[in-house]
Amino acid sequence: MAKCDTPHSLFLQVAIAVPLDRLFDYLAPDNCDATTLQPGVRVLVPFGKSHKIGILLAINEHSEFDKQRLKQVEQILDNEPLLSTADLKLLQWASHYYHHPLGEVLACAFPVALRQGKPAVLEHALSYSLTALGRETQPEMLKRAPKQLKLMSLFHAQSEALSQTDLLEHKSALKLLLQKAMVEEHKTPTATKNIIRGSLLEANNEQKQAISAISANLGRFSVSLLEGVTGSGKTEVYMQVITTALIKGLQILVLLPEISLTPQLEQRFRKRFSVPIVTFHSKLTDKQRLNAWLSMQQGHASIMLGTRSALFTPLHKPGLIILDEEHDTSFKQQEGFRFSARDVAIIRAKHLSIPVVLGSATPSLESLFNVDQKRYQLLTLANRAGNALAPEFRVLDIRNKKMHSGLSDPLINEIHATLAQGQQVLLFLNRRGFAPVQICHQCGGISRCQRCDANLVIHVQENVLRCHHCYSEQQLTKQCKACKTGELQALGLGTERIEHILTSLFAGKKLVRLDKDTTQRKGSLESYLEQINRGEVDIILGTQMLAKGHHFPNVTLVAILDIDSGLFSIDFRAGEKLAQMIVQVAGRAGRADKPGKVILQTRQPQHPLLMTLLKQGYRAFAQAVLQERHQASLPPFSYQALFRVHATNQEAPLAFLTALCRLLKQNNDGKIQILGPVAAPMLKRAGQFRFQLLLQSSKRQDLHSLLDTILPGIPKLKEAKGVRWTLDVDPVDLY
Ligand code: ADP
Ligand code: ZN
Repeated sequence: MAKCDTPHSLFLQVAIAVPLDRLFDYLAPDNCDATTLQPGVRVLVPFGKSHKIGILLAINEHSEFDKQRLKQVEQILDNEPLLSTADLKLLQWASHYYHHPLGEVLACAFPVALRQGKPAVLEHALSYSLTALGRETQPEMLKRAPKQLKLMSLFHAQSEALSQTDLLEHKSALKLLLQKAMVEEHKTPTATKNIIRGSLLEANNEQKQAISAISANLGRFSVSLLEGVTGSGKTEVYMQVITTALIKGLQILVLLPEISLTPQLEQRFRKRFSVPIVTFHSKLTDKQRLNAWLSMQQGHASIMLGTRSALFTPLHKPGLIILDEEHDTSFKQQEGFRFSARDVAIIRAKHLSIPVVLGSATPSLESLFNVDQKRYQLLTLANRAGNALAPEFRVLDIRNKKMHSGLSDPLINEIHATLAQGQQVLLFLNRRGFAPVQICHQCGGISRCQRCDANLVIHVQENVLRCHHCYSEQQLTKQCKACKTGELQALGLGTERIEHILTSLFAGKKLVRLDKDTTQRKGSLESYLEQINRGEVDIILGTQMLAKGHHFPNVTLVAILDIDSGLFSIDFRAGEKLAQMIVQVAGRAGRADKPGKVILQTRQPQHPLLMTLLKQGYRAFAQAVLQERHQASLPPFSYQALFRVHATNQEAPLAFLTALCRLLKQNNDGKIQILGPVAAPMLKRAGQFRFQLLLQSSKRQDLHSLLDTILPGIPKLKEAKGVRWTLDVDPVDLY
């Protein structure tokens, strides 16, 4: 290879994951012909006193830096680019739009293993099938080994061999079954003859329309909003469109809010398709994520199911992006590079000329607005698929009613009646722990977190008081530490407390509580869901985790225990979120042929927002709220960007925001509203005092040009020292 130290040296422009809004130039290594290098490969570079992994972005003939001081790249880590030109373009767009350093944005596109410089080598694609011994093995023989049993039943359910990617999550069980010679390994992947494993359902008319409208757009950019009530067959629409894309040899990216909360969806996909499917989410190991990422990049896998971090996975043959539950705020990353996976997915699809499908029973107001603006095509599934009936709502006025730890008598009677018919009940309360407040009966003192402006939450089972914001905890005691005499009491309700009362009210009934505290252990959620679906559970109690796409066909009564706290939030999006939550939770009821009933306990039975939602439905509700937002010039009728800043004292953040405000006003031609500085709704959190400044504009472009103008000036402000600030473009919550 030619040496690079010719007079016409080339300069390698590299992005490095550091919080600096700039790129770095390096010289090529000695043994390399820089003209053969391609953007998108990883490079190992000296950086300060250490080394870093960077991404090569360009090979330039000029450098704005002093040539003599430039260092050499130490190593080129990849032979082929890991990111395509289109991928790089998207990430550059995102860096610019979110005003976030490109190096950090690029890092988000890679799995950890590649960020650390591990080789981009896909584990060989092996496949596995049962041996004669395995086929003869009776399930009883594996009763003591549930993981192996589960894997065996997976093999039994399929006639074809399973690929390595199918089995990513069964590695340990697979190893044991291989040792026992119940399963054998094939070195060459057994080519899948079919795309589809299970049989297609006969789509109903609405589904047919949606399927053909989306399929017709394969190969060009379009955004479809698939609005379908829970159980209307959206997933079936996705799967049929995916089938068409697969026949064309295309890959499909399916993004979900929290995939580990919806193991059922993955199972449905695996049952339907025989092409390799990979998952990508935070519960996987680094190695699993590396393999999943590479198998999409190299075209070995056809479908990826992932969370927002899967959005940037390079696709060998991009065909379609689906975002299910598009209204879910977990599509917005809330720290570091604060991107919206929904919004960036649309830009990505535009760059790639492929369709995007946004699906939801309760579309975000942003998406409905985009439908009104004719930017998205609306596809509606108004009826439940099959024979399932829509649930019936009932508002239960609990003013002045006797309550038993949050349950009114009429509700208790309804629960009894439902259980007597052998059906399941689902109770929803969006608060974990035993009680949100601990109060002293003597002095009235409340147990507060030392580090946050928050009360400590009582967790009786774990015997701790815990802060839900900074996770600091202390042992639960009976006696007040302040007055030294008073007895401490629990105030308010959490799921743990409801569990307590339910156990005594409905003795002998099997209850499962699903919240963050009971589903920590890997696989525990799955095992609870299986128990529920086998009909072994009578009462399901849980938090918002229940609102996420689960199917509980035997649930015929849903009760939302407390909606009042959601009606009086200062967040302008609170109403939208509450309505989505009510409709989503309600959607769990009566999915099969049994009609469902939804009871809402409230002290605000006449609340206009609630009335519109229950009497006229989510769409009417959304239109009413959009009207309000229009009048108040709130998003989606305006665009926002939020500066957040924190420090260990109150003065520095305020001084910083005041200086920032001055800088903004000097450059603002009156088109941007500057609101603040104000204290964050929760001023102190984890020992940090937090303040914010909100920018709002009726034109996106105006907002971004002001930001472009002033951002380079911020590090030069003397008030910027000692504070940590961040910028959130299109913030979804103001906390
Ligand atoms: P969603 O994703 O909108 O909640 P699903 O696709 O999960 O809805 O469908 C809900 C239920 O209805 C599932 O059990 C599914 O198998 C069934 N289903 C969907 N489409 C049809 C159809 N065309 N005919 C019969 N059953 C269907
Ligand atoms: Zn705290």
